[in-house]
Amino acid sequence: MHDIVIIGGGIAGISLAARLAPFASVTVLEREPSLGYHSTSRSAAMYIPNYGTALLRQLILQSGDDLTGDHIVAGGVTSLRGELAIVGADDEDILAKYMTGSTGLTQLSPDEAHDLCPILRNDRFVSAIYDEQAADIDVDKLFQGFIRMARQSGAQLLTGHEVLSLSQTCNTWHITTDKDVLTADIVVNAAGAWAGVLASMAGASPISITPCRRSAAIIPLADGLDPTPWPMIADIAETWYAKPDAGRLMVSPADQDPIAPCDAWVDDMVLAMGIDRFEQATTVSVTRVEHQWAGLRSFADDHEPVAGFDPVAHGFFWLAGQGGNGIQTAPALSQLAADIILSKTASSNASDAKLITGLSPARFN
Ligand SMILES: Cc1cc2nc3c(=O)[nH]c(=O)nc-3n(C[C@H](O)[C@H](O)[C@H](O)COP(=O)(O)OP(=O)(O)OC[C@H]3O[C@@H](n4cnc5c(N)ncnc54)[C@H](O)[C@@H]3O)c2cc1C
Repeated sequence: MHDIVIIGGGIAGISLAARLAPFASVTVLEREPSLGYHSTSRSAAMYIPNYGTALLRQLILQSGDDLTGDHIVAGGVTSLRGELAIVGADDEDILAKYMTGSTGLTQLSPDEAHDLCPILRNDRFVSAIYDEQAADIDVDKLFQGFIRMARQSGAQLLTGHEVLSLSQTCNTWHITTDKDVLTADIVVNAAGAWAGVLASMAGASPISITPCRRSAAIIPLADGLDPTPWPMIADIAETWYAKPDAGRLMVSPADQDPIAPCDAWVDDMVLAMGIDRFEQATTVSVTRVEHQWAGLRSFADDHEPVAGFDPVAHGFFWLAGQGGNGIQTAPALSQLAADIILSKTASSNASDAKLITGLSPARFN
């Protein structure tokens, strides 16, 4: 009998195992032969503190210390990159929304933006917003750091274990995999794009978690162009973005197309249209794609993560719906989830109490 079985060996499940393992017996079950195979290994690897809703921004900021400090990986896992969002003549409303609740942003002229990233066509936009706090995350280092923490505290991380059914008798969960049956007091749903499937197996609340595809490609640049010092660039309406990647550029069409949970693949037409939008905004002409991939970003209807005990299925804990923020929020979200599971939350702190309520699956009741 385990205290806690976590379903899903991506960053959500593994970071939570790292937080819980010093205090409880924890097993992670991952269907694939390796950990982190799905969304976790397919991200843009960015830390952008002004990205997303107010609750997400709180989680991102709270994660900052763990990402830059020595708590998870000695020396931290971030390096400053900066993010430059270009603003078109018709983007006033989007700009106003972007600025609401944001901190540390600088408004630049097209010429100033061009100085930071010389491939931008400065006649195609009227201003730009620069966020100097945005940083690259070494996702592999971060993930390996959480794996090490989990294993050192005794967590079992089992790959090649697909959960096929869940049932509960007398407050004990029976977790049937393709290999064996485990029992536990608490089951955690950290199944990423499959969170809805797992919830329905458990008879938990029917919270809608929609997987949305996001694609990316690596493109080479003309000789003599070294993107290393450039910031990440994007248009403020998020219809494309690009970031330096080992002497090349990663370009994304910023697609967000709902699809059934799966091993995601690129839709060539969507990628081609995104590359076209990137070409319109820059002087780069894309002649070759070296590598392309897609991953799933999974969202609840209100685009906030879902973290907390299910109001219907006793002992069933949700850790899902991180959307495009699951890497940069993992340190804080895993700590908050562990505190709730171990009943250690400081409800005296009003902002944490608001966070817990805002993330709770009970908000959909
Ligand atoms: C292109 C792209 C760019 C992104 N950029 C960023 C970024 O810059 N910054 C950021 O913070 N985030 C970003 N994200 C989002 C981030 O990658 C995700 O939020 C995060 O990886 C989700 O982690 P997860 O552990 O919930 O999901 P996953 O990594 O998908 O893990 C879930 C796991 O559950 C397993 N599973 C499912 N069902 C079962 C079952 N029945 N039995 C056993 N195992 C099961 C799956 O096999 C899977 O491995 C991006 C995502 C994409 C696709």
